[in-house]
Amino acid sequence: MMTGSFYSGQQLVVPAGETPPQGGQLVSAVRAQGRQLCCQRCGAIWPRGIQTLPLGGAYCQDCIGLGRVTTRDRLWRLAPPVFPERPAGQCCAWQGTLTPNQVRAAQAIQHAHTAGRGILVWAVTGAGKTEMTFPVVTAALAAGGLVAYASPRIDVCNELFPRIQTAFPTISTGLRHGREEQPYMGEQLIVCTTHQLLRFYHAFSLIIVDEVDAFPMHNSRLLHAAVAQALQPGTAPVYLTATPDAHLRRQLRRGQLAVAYLPRRFHGAPLPVPRLHWCRQHTLTTGFQPLQRLVRCHRSARRPVMLFVPTVPLLTALTVWLSSRFPAETVVSVHADDPERVAKVQAFRDGRTTLLVTTTILERGVTIPHLQVIVWAADHEHFQTNALVQVAGRAGRSADDPWGRVDFFYHRYTLAIARARREIRQMNRRGGFR
Ligand SMILES: [Zn+2]
Repeated sequence: MMTGSFYSGQQLVVPAGETPPQGGQLVSAVRAQGRQLCCQRCGAIWPRGIQTLPLGGAYCQDCIGLGRVTTRDRLWRLAPPVFPERPAGQCCAWQGTLTPNQVRAAQAIQHAHTAGRGILVWAVTGAGKTEMTFPVVTAALAAGGLVAYASPRIDVCNELFPRIQTAFPTISTGLRHGREEQPYMGEQLIVCTTHQLLRFYHAFSLIIVDEVDAFPMHNSRLLHAAVAQALQPGTAPVYLTATPDAHLRRQLRRGQLAVAYLPRRFHGAPLPVPRLHWCRQHTLTTGFQPLQRLVRCHRSARRPVMLFVPTVPLLTALTVWLSSRFPAETVVSVHADDPERVAKVQAFRDGRTTLLVTTTILERGVTIPHLQVIVWAADHEHFQTNALVQVAGRAGRSADDPWGRVDFFYHRYTLAIARARREIRQMNRRGGFR
């Protein structure tokens, strides 16, 4: 059990006129810096005279999602929790073995973390990123530190949490995101959305940020500040992704981040390179005839198919078309605001659904054996390079069937399509494939 107060490691908002219990540090939530105001919770800076309140004072717009902080409020910051030290062998129960490539990456992560340096683990989709972090997480837990796996995506957190619980069964673990309204209960290992890190201050000895380039963390000052502020001074984050964004690549070029490449999937087979199918513009928006043969071929081999589309109207039209052409199949569609999203993905995983039509919400964090991927209207602006690489990366992920197939249907050969194919080929070459 941890020692310290119930609120250890957190920063809580104390409204004007209220006094917190003894201990901790009190700071004003919004501080004046010359002509500007600076939020002490999220680091936002804005000029005086805007974001004002009717009764005087100002509030922070950036972190309002976590409840408003104003110039009248104070933040109560508490020392990080301390957990007992214990032998590393008692922390991690994962029985698998890492490939030599994974071992090298795991060592690079540990080395960077010990040196207090940030590191980007640039691993292809299906490389087994999570397992590579187990050694560094084990070391941090054994030393009595507080550890977080954070991701901008709720789906990624939900998929990660049971795996983390199984790998670290003797450690108290918790899941925190906007849809789980539970306060921090003193767990040593938490899986959370990056937003939740704003509730902490200098608390974690290790934060692993999974899918760091995903929306909404992509180009978000707020969420990068959340990570930096939640970490204890002298420590730096571990970033994981297959598709680093421009900001991370810039940090790499400037030497501000260490890097570990993992160009091979854990099963050793190359990434599937998308095959291209040109269509008339008219065909892309009205008819789906070019899909007929391909879908029939995938289904006669009894393989599940995920069809990605850029918009909800196309999602509906394609679902109707598939249902009429393939009456023997179970066709289901899923999109961002779908309340049954989790149940539908589970049905697809279990094989109860055979054709799943989806928008890019399922571009990451989904692993389904024998999956074949089709992208319809891959030239649409909603499919940026990283989305196309991630989507293609859903295929061929299992060791017993590493040869998935990916097909892009398009009219204009966009820069995003060209870049996605180039990046996939580059990673394959780096992994030793021709
Ligand atoms: Zn703020």
